[in-house]
Amino acid sequence: MTTIPSRDQEAAITSLQQRILSCRLCQQHGYIPIAHPIVSGRASDRVLVIGQAPGHRSVANNLPFSGPGGRILQKWLEQAGFPPRYLHEHTYLSSLTRCDPGRSPKGNGDRRPSPQEVALCRPYLEEEIRILQPKVVLLVGTMAIEAFFGKVRLEEVIGTYEERDGMRLLPLPHPSGVSRWLNDPAHQKLLQQALGLLSSWRVTFAL
Ligand code: SF4
Repeated sequence: MTTIPSRDQEAAITSLQQRILSCRLCQQHGYIPIAHPIVSGRASDRVLVIGQAPGHRSVANNLPFSGPGGRILQKWLEQAGFPPRYLHEHTYLSSLTRCDPGRSPKGNGDRRPSPQEVALCRPYLEEEIRILQPKVVLLVGTMAIEAFFGKVRLEEVIGTYEERDGMRLLPLPHPSGVSRWLNDPAHQKLLQQALGLLSSWRVTFAL
């Protein structure tokens, strides 16, 4: 079921997305060579997905979660009973930072955005939450989880959720192949537990 957002919500999201798209703060502070923020989502979306930061593929496609991680996340959504393309067509895709932080200097995947970059970008995320008032928030990967839960081990929180201000915060592991956490069958069970919760909310909230 799709809720009809108020005109105020639609106007507020459009204006916020325009502000994000024109933001160059991290470039001005010298954290990244070029700021190229990306956004994706509608005021009607009631599932908010919060990841770490877009990678180079997502920026090239101008679409968050358009790499392999997005495909796996969509597959998890389908395991929870959501239809094909739900991720990109019916969830609001956000992240701790909106620009690609570039490759890790250690050469093992994407660089984690620094606390300074996350702090510069955080007001946009807070504003999205305030405007959207989502029913469900998927915290994808350790960085996104810790931004809301503080320092925790994945095995302590995957398969559990927390309700805050009318939102259900659901931690999920990072879906990229870089993470080896899911290689452990016990961890796979925790993921299935999390997807079970998501499936029940899909029905309860008619998501
Ligand atoms: S990551 Fe966020 S704060 Fe930094 S330049 Fe991009 S949009 Fe602005």
